[in-house]
Amino acid sequence: MNNYGIEIWGDDNFIIDGSLVVVNKDSKPSLLNIIKEIRDEGTRGPVLLRFPHLIEKQIDNIYQNFDRAKRELNYGGDFQAVFPLKVNQFPNFITALVEAGHKYNYGLEAGSKAELLIAMSHTKNQAPITVNGFKDKEMIELGFISALMGQNITLTIEGINELETIIEVAGEQKSKTPDIGLRIKLHSLGVGAWAKSGGINSKFGLTATELIKSIDLLKKSRLLKNFTMIHFHIGSQITDINYLKKAIREAGNIYADLVKLGALNLSTINIGGGLAVEYAQKKANCEVRYSLKEYANDIIFMLGTIAKSKNVTEPNIMIESGRYIASSHAVLIAPVFELVSEGYIEYDLRLKEKNPPLIEELNELYKSIEKKNALEYLHDGLDHLNSLLTLFDLGYIDLIDRSNSEVLTHLIIKKAIYLLQDYHLSELLHIQDLIQEKYLINFSMFQSMPDFWGLKQHFPVMPLAKLDIKPTRSATLWDITCDSDGEIKFERDNHLYLHSIDLKKEEYFLGFFLLGAYQEVLGMNHNLFSHPTEATILIDKKGYTIEKVIQSPSIINILDDLNYDTDKIKKALYEKINLSKIENGLKEKIEDKLNIFLDENGYLKTIK
Ligand SMILES: *Cc1c(COP(=O)(O)O)cnc(C)c1O
Repeated sequence: MNNYGIEIWGDDNFIIDGSLVVVNKDSKPSLLNIIKEIRDEGTRGPVLLRFPHLIEKQIDNIYQNFDRAKRELNYGGDFQAVFPLKVNQFPNFITALVEAGHKYNYGLEAGSKAELLIAMSHTKNQAPITVNGFKDKEMIELGFISALMGQNITLTIEGINELETIIEVAGEQKSKTPDIGLRIKLHSLGVGAWAKSGGINSKFGLTATELIKSIDLLKKSRLLKNFTMIHFHIGSQITDINYLKKAIREAGNIYADLVKLGALNLSTINIGGGLAVEYAQKKANCEVRYSLKEYANDIIFMLGTIAKSKNVTEPNIMIESGRYIASSHAVLIAPVFELVSEGYIEYDLRLKEKNPPLIEELNELYKSIEKKNALEYLHDGLDHLNSLLTLFDLGYIDLIDRSNSEVLTHLIIKKAIYLLQDYHLSELLHIQDLIQEKYLINFSMFQSMPDFWGLKQHFPVMPLAKLDIKPTRSATLWDITCDSDGEIKFERDNHLYLHSIDLKKEEYFLGFFLLGAYQEVLGMNHNLFSHPTEATILIDKKGYTIEKVIQSPSIINILDDLNYDTDKIKKALYEKINLSKIENGLKEKIEDKLNIFLDENGYLKTIK
């Protein structure tokens, strides 16, 4: 049976129970039941489900692994972590994250003024706030306000100019100065699609010369005591830990030498993010070649060794993992809206008294196809269709003949797949590209998985039900945007099989997993499909509750967001109705209907 690689990417968060995908916690509710309940309340279109217990699990994993590694390796420094807000700033995610991280003093990292304001308002007690990214004077002043409020904030400097501005503000304010971090430019290169953050030509950080200059500047302005942290980030989704190890070796040595240069309060190395997530659905496509345990052990061991050999105190370690924390908590559930070729039925045939010989042959293939000849007849049918299309182009057959060819070929495909379903599908694989079914999915890839569009990042996808039935259709997924990029093609080395279904009788839902990192805020309103409806799911031993439902914006709000004058739009529509020849009694009804449309979200309405 096809389990869609759930044991590879699922991390035991989701499992298959009988025919259904269930959440592997307490009462183990099925995703199908959850989505049906949400739809029973009237919600239509795709729905993003958030599972706060999965955020908590990732946070626990990180702290527990570093705790264990520290104990085992007898490491003296502390461990701290912050969540980089750019990975997901949505309030229902952040609130759950802050809640789950409270017991560890888990902090937040900000890269812009807006993110800094989220961090300042959401951080509890002494949880750390770090500020990366380019900063103007105003943003630095915000950092000073945070320090005045008593928060544990570190401003990480990306360049000498920023340091000069901090010195300037400190001179003006003569009040509490935030801690200062220096981002270091490593010569070790990052890897992968997100590699631009590491390396000597990277956008961020200070060279060795600039670091020494910074120490001098800090000394001169009596702020050296505030310099507590060095920071680097070599890129996201680091799949090979050797790149990180190289960076740590380099940073560890920089740390020790800065301490020796007189930076006596320097106590922390912040090693950024990059902890990778396994997105693969097949063993052969697996990317991540290390575990969290190995990651924690390597970091602690290397920093311990360097500190010992250079005779400095073991540094505190801070990490800024985002992807690892956020990805698993969000699952998008989207209904299939239409099957593009399943629709062909025998009833559609308009065979003539006398048909072109190739069509007679197709009809004969369809009638006499059976298990032992199915593959051969399928080949012949596809060949015939090609020849018939050429005949049409040359004017030898007409549109009715062409329609009959399409219908007959699809009937042959359907029958052949049915007859061959007990065979191993790889026998069919060499013609799967030709006989794939197009599943039109009621969601937008641009909105809900932009990294698939921009970076060809694969996200796990599987149906929520029928998992006790062998899926036989090789599937290409189309989203409902008018953009041909909104397509996940059936590919031989990344093949997706789905079930043959009758949408008139049943609904069929696909789950897209690991969407919690980066996808939501990078998502774009292409074709004006906006953020899907979201819901937070809490699970206990008795069952589950659906909370914090936020409906996908209504059409009128989407237009308002684009700065359309929506009153004007309504007025224009009413006026056109009034001036039209529509009979008077009907005009009001049409107006009412338009108003209902404007208040609904922009996704399609599937049956039920
Ligand atoms: C993006 C970013 C992160 C998060 O990286 P992940 O790969 O998501 O863990 C951490 N630190 C900085 C400075 C970043 O820019």
